[in-house]
Amino acid sequence: MDVVVVGAGVVGLTAAVVLRERGHRVALWARDDGTATVSGVAAAIWYPFLAEPRARVLGWARVTFRRLERLAGDPASGVRMVPVVEGFATAEPDLWWAGAAGAIERLPAAAVPAGFAAAIRTHVPVCATPIHLPWLLAQVRAAGIAVERRSLASLDEAFAAAPTVVNCTGLGARELCGDGAMVAVRGQVVVAARPPGLDAAWIDDTNERPLYAVPRGDDVVLGGSAQRGDERLAADPADTTAILAGLGARLPELRGVAVRAVKVGLRPWRPAVRLEVEPRGGGRRIVHDYGHGGSGYTLAWGCAEEVADLVGAAR
Ligand SMILES: Cc1cc2nc3c(=O)[nH]c(=O)nc-3n(C[C@H](O)[C@H](O)[C@H](O)COP(=O)(O)OP(=O)(O)OC[C@H]3O[C@@H](n4cnc5c(N)ncnc54)[C@H](O)[C@@H]3O)c2cc1C
Repeated sequence: MDVVVVGAGVVGLTAAVVLRERGHRVALWARDDGTATVSGVAAAIWYPFLAEPRARVLGWARVTFRRLERLAGDPASGVRMVPVVEGFATAEPDLWWAGAAGAIERLPAAAVPAGFAAAIRTHVPVCATPIHLPWLLAQVRAAGIAVERRSLASLDEAFAAAPTVVNCTGLGARELCGDGAMVAVRGQVVVAARPPGLDAAWIDDTNERPLYAVPRGDDVVLGGSAQRGDERLAADPADTTAILAGLGARLPELRGVAVRAVKVGLRPWRPAVRLEVEPRGGGRRIVHDYGHGGSGYTLAWGCAEEVADLVGAAR
């Protein structure tokens, strides 16, 4: 074995796929299936949010956009290109991520929805996680990667199997690496039946509370919340009420939607995504790839390519 990837969320699964594409012999170890972690809670729309630093995020987001755009050509992947409208409080919003996305149309004043100073329309990839995560895992297995359910007390345990360990443990890195910079940012979403006619995703950028609706097949993910340092995993009825009321005020078709589930996840945030090599002596090293905050789906493939660059050529 050349590499053990630890973690089976979207970050670990994509890293394993890309390392295998580059010819490495890879194993994947994880405590939980990706559907049972924050990766299973995400909306999961391509949109850089709560991830730093911007210069690196832009590069990773660009690579990920192109890969997901290609995957959207395969319906089995659960990825689709979806129109999205985003509204802003200011007339000149800072679209710092525009260089990583496709063509962006600024809506003329007459077309800007009520309550916004400006709005844009573009197309971005959306991953229907109930399809996409099992599909990613199937890609991993089809590539011949052995997947093992393991809970590690130390990343060093993986050196027994390979000299290179890729750390994709998300919030778990807080304990595994003693990383005090990690902060959980709680997010709650409501999953509802998609009302007829709701074809575009919708992002309201005017409030501190993120407000969005992301249609995916026959459901729509309604969000959200971003509560720093709040690690409650139980659904909060006050959040649900705020989400449904906020979106209902903006989008009449969402009033009275049929709620299917309320989900909570903890975004693995740190002041900067940690993607770097940590040499451990004797030819052993850890390549860290964690701390993607609110952008794991937006950055995963770009980060996976950089991980593979750092790991280097297969022997
Ligand atoms: C409400 C909400 C909405 C979101 N929406 C979006 C969105 O629209 N777009 C977007 O890009 N992102 C979104 N995100 C963020 C996204 O979900 C995360 O950035 C992403 O899922 C992080 O993935 P990960 O693989 O790093 O972590 P995880 O999914 O947490 O996976 C970590 C893996 O590491 C394993 N692990 C941890 N510790 C150990 C250990 N000690 N031993 C063995 N294995 C271990 C776990 O079992 C798991 O397999 C959202 C998040 C929330 C909460």
